[in-house]
Amino acid sequence: MNFDKIIALIKIEGDQMSPTLTISVSQQTLEAMYKHYATQIVNVPAHTMFQAKTSHCTITAYLSKKVVFQGKAPELEANKWGTPQTKPTTTKKVATSKLPSHIATLSAVGADEVGTGDYLGPIVVCCAYVRQDQIETLLHLGIKDSKQLNDSNITHLAAKLKKEIPFHCIILPNDKYNLMVDKGMNANSIKAFLHNKAMLALEEKLGTMPEYVILDEFVNERKYYDYLKTLPSKPNIYTKNLFFVQKGEGVHVAVAAASIIARAAFVEYMDMMAAKLGMPLPKGAGPGVDRAAADIYRLKGETTLQSISKWHFANSNKVKRHL
Ligand code: MG
Repeated sequence: MNFDKIIALIKIEGDQMSPTLTISVSQQTLEAMYKHYATQIVNVPAHTMFQAKTSHCTITAYLSKKVVFQGKAPELEANKWGTPQTKPTTTKKVATSKLPSHIATLSAVGADEVGTGDYLGPIVVCCAYVRQDQIETLLHLGIKDSKQLNDSNITHLAAKLKKEIPFHCIILPNDKYNLMVDKGMNANSIKAFLHNKAMLALEEKLGTMPEYVILDEFVNERKYYDYLKTLPSKPNIYTKNLFFVQKGEGVHVAVAAASIIARAAFVEYMDMMAAKLGMPLPKGAGPGVDRAAADIYRLKGETTLQSISKWHFANSNKVKRHL
């Protein structure tokens, strides 16, 4: 880090005349920082994860993942964690403009799904409600994007979450999925159908939905509602306070919680299917999955493979070619 650049960043705040540096960090870094400064925490102001004091500066870590270093030598701490910003914060290009900037600190329902990219196994959608006063506990538990966690962590965290927060999860088994594809639906219209169903169910459980319902966006808002409107079953369409947000798990912990519960249900379902079949069922859609699928096809037949796979995936043709 160039020293001139640091000097240029220094701004005078209040009458303290102390240099201030700001960095944006990932959820993972924020949690690592929390651990690192655990013994130096002096306060937990509103909207922050902690405020700590070292011999170099005061560190204020916001739940929005912005961290402010202020004091004699803030760069000595700031540079451990990231590059201080040269411009005013520009958040990731995500469609959060309609949400308040402090959304991470408010009560919200989050919705996410898993299994859509896995050739074998179901699709699971989940929506979960996290109250404002639970956010900090969940962050401390290590609730983050399920893609960053391994299966055993997922199972462990999901068990904890299920005790703490209301949620609704739907598992769509492969035979039903394949039937929906045969009827002309695609992966996105199936997801829209399932999310809508899960949100209506959660609304019924909660009595009323919070001011913010955040769906991890897989298709744009217009298309999402188009899919629902053209469903032959003409379902009720959930719309209240629904926001479509890319990378939602980074925007609110409720989305990350939903993805963890969904992933745990997916893992459990896969284990159950593998035990029933007496064969391993790898996740994903890569070459290992093709080999496992070819074994299933050879030993158990096409109908069995079809009943546990997303049959329209290109993997099905590869399996037949490999025989
Ligand atoms: Mg998602």
